[in-house]
Formats: sequence, C-alpha cells, structure tokens
Amino acid sequence: MDWVNFREIRARVAIARVLTEYYQLDNLKVSGTVATGPCPVHGGNNPRGFHVDLEKNLWHCFTGCKRGGNQLDLVAAKDNVPIREAALRLQRFFLGDDGGAPPAASPVFPTPTRREPPAGVVAPHDAAKKKEKVNPPLDLALQLLPDHPHILEDRKLSQATAEHFGIGYCARGILAGCIGIPVHNEDGQLVAYAGRRLKFSDAEDLGKYRFPKGFHKDRVLYNLHRALPESSDTLVLVEGFFSVLKLHEAGVPNVAAVMGSDLSEHQAVLAARAPHVVVFFDGNEAGRRGTVAAIERLQPLVSVSALDLPDDWEPEDCSPDMLHWLLTGATALGCSRLTFQHPQTPASRPATP
Ligand SMILES: [Zn+2]
Repeated sequence: MDWVNFREIRARVAIARVLTEYYQLDNLKVSGTVATGPCPVHGGNNPRGFHVDLEKNLWHCFTGCKRGGNQLDLVAAKDNVPIREAALRLQRFFLGDDGGAPPAASPVFPTPTRREPPAGVVAPHDAAKKKEKVNPPLDLALQLLPDHPHILEDRKLSQATAEHFGIGYCARGILAGCIGIPVHNEDGQLVAYAGRRLKFSDAEDLGKYRFPKGFHKDRVLYNLHRALPESSDTLVLVEGFFSVLKLHEAGVPNVAAVMGSDLSEHQAVLAARAPHVVVFFDGNEAGRRGTVAAIERLQPLVSVSALDLPDDWEPEDCSPDMLHWLLTGATALGCSRLTFQHPQTPASRPATP
C-alpha cells in the first residue's frame, strides 16, 4: 500500500498551489488573504460563491454544494475520491512518488502574507482592475446579552426583538462596552458586527457606531435578507439599525437600513430587488439630502417613492397607525399595497434563510 502522510502534505502543499497548479484555475480573485470565485467543486457560476482562506488553507462553498475543508477535502470533493486517494494524488503531483522528497528551496507559490497577495491566483484581466470590494463571511460569533438596559429601557425594544435580530451588549473583545449588531449580506451570511457605542464621550468623539476595519458598509443593506422575503410589494429603506428594529416591532418587517443617509450605487441595485422602494429617512438636513440622492439612484432601477418627516423626527417616532397611513400613502403613488403584518403573527413570517 502506498505510504501517505496527510499532515505533511497539508503542511507542504498550500491550497493556493492546489488551485493554481493542480487545477490550473485562473478565475479566482484575491483580496488580502482571501480568494473568491465560482465554486470549482460543483461548477457554479456565482463569482462570490467559493471562498478560500489562503493563510489557513481552508475553503468553503456558499452556493451550490456548500462543502468546505482543507486541501485534501478539496481534492476529495472535486475529484470525487476518498481522502486517502486525494492525499496520494497531491503527494504524487507535488512531492514525487515517494512523498519524502525534501521541500523545494523556493516554493513556486509561497504562502501568501497579508502584504503580498499571490499574484498567480489573480486572472490577468482582473489584476489590472480596481480591486472589487467584498465583505467575506465571518466565522466568529460574539456573545451578546439581549437584556441590556440600553435596549429594553432606552430604546424600549422587547427582548424578543433583540433576540430576533441577534443584538445585545458585548462585555468582552473588540466591541466591549458596545451594543453589538450582527450585519448580514443579502444571502443571509454574517459579514460584520457593528457596535453602538454607549459611553457618551466615546459616541461624541468617535461617532455613535463603530464598524470593523475593512468593512464595506456601502456593499450591504442591513436586514435585507429578512426584509426581501417580506417585500412582495415594497421595501422600506431607513437610515439606521434601530429604525429597522422599531419598525419591525410596529409591524413593518419589510425594512432595511442604509447605515447612514448615503445610498450607494451597489445598495440601490440591492434594493431594486423589491418591486417598489419607499425611502424613509430621518427628518433632518442629512436625511433630506440623502433622500434626494437616493431617489436619483433608484429611479432608473425601480419604482420609488419617498416620505418626508417633520423636523427632528425619525421613522421610529411614528406610531404604528401613522406608519401604516404614511407607508400606504407612499406606496399608493407607485405601487399597489404595502404588506403590513404584525410580526407576532407566526404564519405571517416566512422562515428566513
Ligand atoms: Zn460548490
């Protein structure tokens, strides 16, 4: 029987080499230590369906086959062979038949560092292009406490709402002392935790919210993955996280947040997945300026209307009746009817992905 040392193969053959030399893939894009592309295992065509951590030598498919693992798992899955056979194939290809050849003095494809993405993985036509901004899915989960006074007393939200959105007080780590808010992409993958600063002086000096370094806020609409299934007629766009939570409690589940008052081009495209969009920003100068810009962005893509709130009002200041009246009126201008269901009615909430 052929001798095979799984651990040595994993240590000596980086996943990047398996992708570029063994499979000769040229359609992966590298950003930092992450490569993305269509999944080679199931042959997908979603350019962001397949994620590879080049540093940890791990891959995962988020679309078709939803498989993942290390280098050996990749070969086993793609070649449809047992792990042992996958190991033998890599051993023969990279290390010679005996598997005991000394490591090459200078590897063809060095283990990437944060500063030097492996240029070999980048398709030549993409290398010249501006790096596409992507928020890779997170694989960490913060411990958050939903029964914090800021949520229950200051915000007057129910604990059920906090739990539904997964928000809570963070006692430790990078968001220590903040209310942590999990942010998902349109496919429901966790891509960031935003933090609402609670210390008054911090909020004053640094802004109310903190986002992780490298997070592209303009590529995401907060809560879109929950809102879209509810948006058979209309998607309501608000500025902030807590407007989403308050409107949800008031019986408006089809709401997503821009996380600011500047709707980006990409966010406009995301919002346009709904048949009609109601822009419902805050009643202040930034909100009104943002509303005008958002309408300009959305109009070529989707039927759109907007609501103008009185000075210093935010959407959550409206009573449920007023919300109903405003949103029905707004949608009447451009579309049939706003889906207006109470979130507590179990039958009205389709399972979220
Ligand atoms: Zn796949």
